This record gives sequence, structure tokens and C-alpha cells, in this order.
Amino acid sequence: MMYLQDKEEIIEVANEIKRIGLVQLTGGNVSVRKPNGDIIVTPSGMPYETMTPDQVLVLNKDGQVIEGDLRPSVDTVAIKYIFDHCPNVNAVIHTHQPYATAVGLIADELPACCTTLCNVCLGAVPVAPYSAAASEDMGIQAVEYLDGKRAVILKHHGVIAVGPTLHDAEYSCIYLEDVAKCWLAAKAAAGGEVALMTPEEVEEAVNTHKTYGQKH
Ligand SMILES: [Zn+2]
Repeated sequence: MMYLQDKEEIIEVANEIKRIGLVQLTGGNVSVRKPNGDIIVTPSGMPYETMTPDQVLVLNKDGQVIEGDLRPSVDTVAIKYIFDHCPNVNAVIHTHQPYATAVGLIADELPACCTTLCNVCLGAVPVAPYSAAASEDMGIQAVEYLDGKRAVILKHHGVIAVGPTLHDAEYSCIYLEDVAKCWLAAKAAAGGEVALMTPEEVEEAVNTHKTYGQKH
């Protein structure tokens, strides 16, 4: 089987985002792009809890399925557009996380208000205008609004988190949800304006995280 380790990691991340409520039922998808352009993506409408590596599909860089019998995620056309237009992105996670999605209904961005957001999403997270699920337009809007960030909120839909690795994309959608919750709570409590970080504080938070953890 091709890319067994990647497939196992994809299933693990899919279960994690479900466990913490970033998707419900069989929603969302997780994908990885390999250096040769192959794309590994979760199947359409299959439960993550019982997913096995043979159910995860491999597509070549032209988008043809080269391994797997199931239908790939319905958002594959959008995912492929993102990989094709973002050379530094090697992982895409799509979720329907409710708090970040709620931010998209009341604002044009989740502003840089907490260090964790800056650490992993690299600053404020933009909101892209509505695009239909399963359309290439979803990918086009995501790429246009990502603007070098690690996540974008899709209005009336959910989130696309990206990264050079699957780990980066996973951290982005998880902390995005955490900070969205915090910002919405602060906004509700204040009845309006919320304190934001200065550009210098944002830059510091983005840079600090580069040396976080046990990287070799
Ligand atoms: Zn969706």
C-alpha cells in the first residue's frame, strides 16, 4: 500500500478534530500533498472512528485516483486548487468548527487578540466570502484570502487550515477554535470592542513560536 504512514496520520488527525468537536458525523476532510505531487485524501462520507488506511485515497497531481476504491472527499477539487496554488502548503484540513464559523458571520476576520492564534495561524485569520461546498470556488476563495496565513474562515460554512505539515494545519484549526471562543466571549461581555495585540506583539508571537517545542 502507498503512503501507509501518511494515511495513518491522516486518520489520527481526523479523529482528533472530531473528538474535540471541529467536525460532526462524517463532515470535513484531511489531506496531505507529497513532494512528487500525489495527494492523499480522506474518502467522502465515511466515519473516521472506523476508518482504515485502505479507505484513504491517493490521487496523482492531475487529480486521478491512483489508489483506493471509495470516492474521495467531495471537496477534493477545492483541495487540489489550494495545493496547486500554494507551493508551501502540504496539508489541508477542512472543518465545520462552530466558533470560528460564528466569527465569520459577524466580522471580516478573527483579529490578532491572543498569542496562540499568532503562534500557529501567523496572525489574524481572514474570512472569505461564501462559496458553495464541493466547488472549485471554495478553493479559489480560500487561496485568495489565506494571504500567507495558516487558516481561513469560509463564511456560512467552516474553516480551511493549512500548513507545511499536517501537524501545523492541525494546530492551526485547533487554536483557531480556541481563540474564536475567547474572542466571542470577550466581545459578548464587553458588548463591543475587544482589546487587540499591537503589530509588534503579533510579530513577536509569530517569531517566538518558531523555537517552541523539541524540534531538531
Ligand atoms: Zn464543508
